[in-house]
Amino acid sequence: MAKKSNADSQFIWMDGQMVPYNNATTHVLSHSLHYGGAIFEGLRAYATPQGPALFRPQEHFERFLQSIKVMGYSISYSTTDLIRISHELIAKNNFPACYVRPVAYIDDSVRGLKLPPSPEVHTAIAVWPWGKYMGDEGHLKGVKVKTSTFRRPDVASSLPLAKISGAYLTSVLARREATLDGFDEAILLDPQGFVAEGSGENIFIVKDSEIMTPSVGYLLPGITRDCVIQIAKYLGFTLREEAITRNQLYLADEAFFTGTAVEVTPITEVDHLKIGLGHPGPITQKIKETFFKCTQGQVDPFKNWVHFP
Ligand SMILES: *Cc1c(COP(=O)(O)O)cnc(C)c1O
Repeated sequence: MAKKSNADSQFIWMDGQMVPYNNATTHVLSHSLHYGGAIFEGLRAYATPQGPALFRPQEHFERFLQSIKVMGYSISYSTTDLIRISHELIAKNNFPACYVRPVAYIDDSVRGLKLPPSPEVHTAIAVWPWGKYMGDEGHLKGVKVKTSTFRRPDVASSLPLAKISGAYLTSVLARREATLDGFDEAILLDPQGFVAEGSGENIFIVKDSEIMTPSVGYLLPGITRDCVIQIAKYLGFTLREEAITRNQLYLADEAFFTGTAVEVTPITEVDHLKIGLGHPGPITQKIKETFFKCTQGQVDPFKNWVHFP
């Protein structure tokens, strides 16, 4: 496969240096490439009249450090350092808005599975412009999804609260299956058969004006999920976290995904069945609209979700 530059930013931060995009490389024998033990995060910087604002960076970098901890790794940067570096990198690339991708990984200094007791991992942060993850059309009109044949793994064999590259293989396969079958996205069930989440986003349903989302266990509890839970309460909706069956999903009045990449995206069809009337519902729209106001720091109780340099 010929190497073609995919550069969509000028600089990437790696282990303390601002490195030109094409030089931000690692060795082919890197441990994390072979065994899937890289940790990553994803957050967004939104364009505001006062310049780019990172959205809930404290929570994102805390989760990054927690993911690093559960893998038994260590890094020498604090959340404060990582937030400062992200702002510097966005400024250096001159982006008014962008996606931010921190990653921590083990290089080629070890062979085989065995790791040193507390491996100091490499840390990098990349930024790139990223529009609507499921396209402008999907974002506006809603997406069509299928229940995947792949399931979220058992909690005894996974670390569901951490963003680990290896754990994403199930998501990649589910997404591939959904795409090849003509759907926009996959929904993964948990090992018991209850609805867990999308391939990289959480799910909510609305029934009789009440909002429901699967409780934490098998799913990765997203920061956007937390935003929506808080926004729903602020708007006066009843919200419950509980087990949801595929049958309940089919009979929902509304459904939507949440995540840093998808933001709030309506789901209008599941397994060829229309959700509600088959177009984005009013509660979904209200939550989505409020969420985007929050990304601008325009909703009073949630003003501290946006962070400036
Ligand atoms: C990152 C992620 C989400 C969404 O989390 P956010 O913090 O909202 O971006 C949902 N599910 C999985 C599996 C994820 O990795």
